[in-house]
Amino acid sequence: MGTTNIPGIFGSLVFNEEVMHEKLPKEIYDALNKCIEDNKPLTFEIAQSVASCMKSWAVEKGATHYTHWFQPMTGITAEKHDSFITPVGEGKIIMDFSGKELIQSEPDASSFPSGGLRATFEARGYTAWDPTSYAFIKDRTLCIPSIFCSYGGQVLDKKTPLLRSLQALNKQSLRVLNCLGNETGATHVDAFVGGEQEYFLIDRDLYNKREDLRLCGRTLFGARPPKGQEMEDHYFGTIKPRVKAFMDDLDVELWKLGIYAKTEHNEAAPAQHELAPIYALANTATDQNQLTMEIMKTVAIRHNLACLIHEKPFAGINGSGKHNNWSVSTNTGVNLFDPGKAPAENTQFLLFLSAVIKGVDEYQDLLRVSAASPSNDHRLGGNEAPPAIVSLYLGDELGAVVDAIENDEKFEAAEKKVMKSGVKVIPRFDKDTSDRNRTSPFAFTGNKFEFRMVGSSASLSTPNVVLNTMLAEELSQFADRLENCDDVEIESWNIISETLKEHGRIVFNGNNYSDEWVEEAKRRGLVNLKTTADAVPAYLDEKNIELFAKHKIYTREELESRYEITLETYCKSMHIEAVTMLDMVKKDITPAVCKYMGVLANTINSKHQVSKNLPCKLESDLLEKLSNNADKLDEASKKLADDIVKADKISDVTELSCYYRDTILEDMETLRTYADILESNTASVYWPYPTYTDLLNSVV
Ligand code: ADP
Ligand code: MG
Repeated sequence: MGTTNIPGIFGSLVFNEEVMHEKLPKEIYDALNKCIEDNKPLTFEIAQSVASCMKSWAVEKGATHYTHWFQPMTGITAEKHDSFITPVGEGKIIMDFSGKELIQSEPDASSFPSGGLRATFEARGYTAWDPTSYAFIKDRTLCIPSIFCSYGGQVLDKKTPLLRSLQALNKQSLRVLNCLGNETGATHVDAFVGGEQEYFLIDRDLYNKREDLRLCGRTLFGARPPKGQEMEDHYFGTIKPRVKAFMDDLDVELWKLGIYAKTEHNEAAPAQHELAPIYALANTATDQNQLTMEIMKTVAIRHNLACLIHEKPFAGINGSGKHNNWSVSTNTGVNLFDPGKAPAENTQFLLFLSAVIKGVDEYQDLLRVSAASPSNDHRLGGNEAPPAIVSLYLGDELGAVVDAIENDEKFEAAEKKVMKSGVKVIPRFDKDTSDRNRTSPFAFTGNKFEFRMVGSSASLSTPNVVLNTMLAEELSQFADRLENCDDVEIESWNIISETLKEHGRIVFNGNNYSDEWVEEAKRRGLVNLKTTADAVPAYLDEKNIELFAKHKIYTREELESRYEITLETYCKSMHIEAVTMLDMVKKDITPAVCKYMGVLANTINSKHQVSKNLPCKLESDLLEKLSNNADKLDEASKKLADDIVKADKISDVTELSCYYRDTILEDMETLRTYADILESNTASVYWPYPTYTDLLNSVV
């Protein structure tokens, strides 16, 4: 079932493999694992026994409550706490927790987004225990990872489709492996994920002074600072003591929950950092990433810091992503993306690689939409972020193998080169056969793929649903051929070579940030869906509806609901941002600028009273500049306010999303431009907010 326990110096708060092994009766432990392995429902007897052990373990650790912990379509997690207290007779209580309570609960579902799947009056929703992830204790509450569905059985959450996609991937991978002889006798195939999490840390007192950060998670105003990231002096720089203290504290909190945070370093932008955990099963990794984001925020509060997980907290400064490292392995320990020593002769590897290449090419639009959110729109296409075009990087060695196959040529392996540092005392080491490409949205990195489009605040679920499902589909097509051919080896090579020839256009090893690539991608016919509003219709494309229906991931109805929810969220979050901007302009920026203009006008008057001959050019020029821009600011806010009123009249969500994309976004940008000019020309003592310089250099 996955990772093992870290040496218990900090005390574990996770009901993991080792705890289960120790606490559960042997026959129950074996039966539970067998159910998971064979993908069979648990019997009530097993659930009852697990519940009883879980409760004793949790109570011993100080827990008083339990909750089904689930991931509704809001993208964050939800929990409703119940205490273990159960009345037994007159005035007596015991701490109890039954198998039924473990398996299922019924929260009122009417306030969670359903995208039309459930009418508000049908309030019933069910959460059900997911035994393939680990229960854990948070805030004295036993949290039971659960799925969430409606009374009618439709999915209302992010976990259910992920579990379904893993089932599909398992089934189709085994079919292909069995055709190839399944040498290691694998009976189960799983996806593994390591989610690198980027974030910003700023001082909490400054954060509290910015309404935009508090309400929207990003700055909606802010003039460019004199020093941003142009010196590139932050990446891998020395970690400042306050940040180090935060990271140390965070590590401990995460380790206790079985989340093995491994690497932590400064990122490219000032005040930006990254955390990489040790990879885990895709389902566990997704749960763990949700928890990681939550814990980062709470640990930050303890250090009087604010942790910003938004994709683009600061304009003109690098944004934050969440690199989704993804691989597929058998329960016999074979990583199916591992090329081995001689990739050119490794049929099994090349089949899986071809399936990924074909999948990425055929489902570019779905991969794009899986990373789409209003906040990520500000990041994709930015100077460090992958463009909104999906392509795949293979690196030199694998690229050469694929080229050779595409051109029916023999592949000549490159010799491993010894790295020469020019300094004699440094030990010699082998150079990798391929460099890294940091600009690709989807890069092969040795024995895994790294999908880098995903935004820092996103759940890892949706991208992995798409990855697993597209791979399952391509493998199912390969398996159909392999199961019905005379010679598996010959047919495999036919598949590999046909696939690589047909889908080679998706492979791009160059610089994805260049303008030439945008042109080149267009020539190759790759899709370029710039915003969420452009990408979301992919959910309703017939080829995608068929894909998800075939592998039983989403029904057409469920996809329609996702379409609706994503666009609704897009419009709502932009609405909140627009209204926040207006509020800040009215309540803080306008009064501040007026006050400063008053001071300048008074200075001019006072000087004239002293002597008509005293020059006042500086004051009057500045006053004129401020007055002009203040008028333009006012004009821009009136336009934005009027356009918001117009938006309220549009009831169709597709039309509304296009209106927000085309009109409101532009209004917001115009408004910001004038506010930022005013900021640059107003004395600091009058400006109501901490500036970019203050925010980005607030933690020492
Ligand atoms: P970088 O991307 O900076 O080179 P690493 O390759 O060391 O960093 O790892 C990045 C992330 O990928 C980590 O979270 C790591 O656990 C994860 N990872 C490593 N191997 C695999 C794998 N086989 N499958 C999924 N994730 C992996
Ligand atoms: Mg990485």
